Amino acid sequence: MRTQQFGRGGPDVSVIGQGTWYLDQGDRVKAVAALRRGLDLGMTHIDTAELYGDAELVIAEAIASRRDEVFLVSKVLPSNASRRGTIAACERSLQRLKTDRLDCYLLHWRGSYPFEETVAAFDELVRAGKIRSWGVSNFDEDDLAEMLDVAGEGKMACNQVLYHLKERAIEHAVIPWCEQHGVAVVAYSPFGHDDFPTSRSKGGTALHEIAQEHGASPRQVALSFLTRNKAVFAIPKASSAEHAAENAHAGDILLEEDEIAALDAAFPRGPKPHGLPML
Ligand code: NAP
Repeated sequence: MRTQQFGRGGPDVSVIGQGTWYLDQGDRVKAVAALRRGLDLGMTHIDTAELYGDAELVIAEAIASRRDEVFLVSKVLPSNASRRGTIAACERSLQRLKTDRLDCYLLHWRGSYPFEETVAAFDELVRAGKIRSWGVSNFDEDDLAEMLDVAGEGKMACNQVLYHLKERAIEHAVIPWCEQHGVAVVAYSPFGHDDFPTSRSKGGTALHEIAQEHGASPRQVALSFLTRNKAVFAIPKASSAEHAAENAHAGDILLEEDEIAALDAAFPRGPKPHGLPML
């Protein structure tokens, strides 16, 4: 598994990680096995949120006795992101995850509490050793600039945003902004949540051809394409050990320039939209 630095001065983290939205909805034994298989294969970046039902409980079971291997991320809801609310939400997540610290704690999306309040809470949690770093999610370049004004350079570890073959809006301004300021970009829903291109679709043909050349699957090629930029990580969600293993092996695939160009043409990024797309 390829690893790279997670934000300026951050630790090395697996480029492909594991999402957990809806992971609590199916067979929990299978879900725990999927996460553990992912860990075995180096997908040590695990993403969750207080929003994701019982996902934090499923993770607790999967990482019991192997906490130190994991780069664990959770998120506070905007409606809880006051100074006191953020700290209380973090305590609840720590309890559900059965751990004493998070590696990164994110503001899930921008809400109505002033950034100053949330940042003050994040700083307090860092001082208390309850989080190692903090970041944001669903921030466009204007939100990021505003947060930078409040927090200062080198504080925001990451921005977690929607990014998949059919949704490349962040390439216009968000990725360049993050690269310039040493902020990791974490691609969520890298398979389009439930909208992965079929072999019969327009771009899907090129994707499937490139996959065949590598003896890889189209999903592995998609993950490799999305993480071709050194600032970008991806966190696919898998509820079976087989899917997790397939995703983990994407971390070993390096695409050639002409293959990247072919995928770029097959899934055009399109014009910059007004506002950042999100799920
Ligand atoms: P996703 O990862 O794009 O896609 C998940 C779907 O792909 C599931 O149906 C899964 O099926 C399937 N899948 C995964 N690996 C597969 C494989 N190897 N072969 C075939 N199918 C496979 O969707 P997502 O869950 O929306 O996004 C990933 C993570 O990003 C989330 O879980 C969450 O942690 C995070 N996220 C964050 C935000 C935010 O606002 N910050 C928003 C959305 C998501 P199975 O479950 O059957 O394996």
